[in-house]
Amino acid sequence: MTKPYLGDPKHTIEVLQKYDFAFQKRFGQNFLIDTHVLDKIIAASQITKDDFVLEIGPGIGTMTQYLSVAAREVVAVEIDKTLIPILEDTLSEFPNVTVINDDILKVDVAKIARERNGGRPVKVVANLPYYITTPIIMGLFENQVPLDSITIMVQKEVADRMKTGPGSKDYGALSLAVQYYAKPEIVANVPPNCFMPRPKVGSAVIRLTRYEQPPVFVKDEHLMFRIIRASFNQRRKTLMNGLKNSGELSFSKEEIEAAIETCGLSPSVRGEALTLEQFAALTNAFITE
Ligand code: SAM
Repeated sequence: MTKPYLGDPKHTIEVLQKYDFAFQKRFGQNFLIDTHVLDKIIAASQITKDDFVLEIGPGIGTMTQYLSVAAREVVAVEIDKTLIPILEDTLSEFPNVTVINDDILKVDVAKIARERNGGRPVKVVANLPYYITTPIIMGLFENQVPLDSITIMVQKEVADRMKTGPGSKDYGALSLAVQYYAKPEIVANVPPNCFMPRPKVGSAVIRLTRYEQPPVFVKDEHLMFRIIRASFNQRRKTLMNGLKNSGELSFSKEEIEAAIETCGLSPSVRGEALTLEQFAALTNAFITE
């Protein structure tokens, strides 16, 4: 098999010129041109020759070449149809890769895992388009995709949001969702000059290792996430008001007061002060049977 060569900016420029490629801002196209960062992502994703890997947004196939060498099989989903002939060219020597021209938010990833990996957990690796980071991650977690880990490049600020706890302005629904499903670890900080074109923001690689069992016990996961969303919708309001004013919940004032009291929380507490354990306990307090 050919060695990956696209991480070298010289080769990336050659490919872009050969196809007269025009970057599409609306697709969040910032291609990686740093071999050290590519090596770091591959090492952090802990891929072996047994693994089936899903790549989201292969671009011109830079990381795909590395993934192809490390994994048993790679499926790469790319939305931009102008990149498809380029990928056919750059991946022609990498036979274990299949490219799907589609929007990742419309692809049934669980079905791909069933058909191509016998339903066993897949590894997701991506330099994500930043405009849809949150829906992509939430979609993978919530749609019952069998997952081992997700190793992704995201905006630095979003990586911080995934890792943080109460007391930080970055703490929110994304932090709690990620920490319910996975253990987050920031693997590397990546400056703008590692991409072409350069993004305006700093980036970070974060690995989310899926828990076999979530770290807290909750009787109704969907209810907990509705409660979490309601609590952060009105960040500056009390938990009581957040839950009362939510269109997604229909608890009475008395029921909310009782649940808050059962958890030993103050009636004036704000939702943003609660830990994941406390959100789980609060959810369980609403379920009486
Ligand atoms: N992986 C390449 C790299 O590291 O050089 C490209 C990364 S670039 C940040 C994001 C890629 O995701 C682009 O190729 C873009 O066209 C693609 N993309 C954007 N939105 C997408 C979507 N909804 N579904 C699939 N791919 C998407």
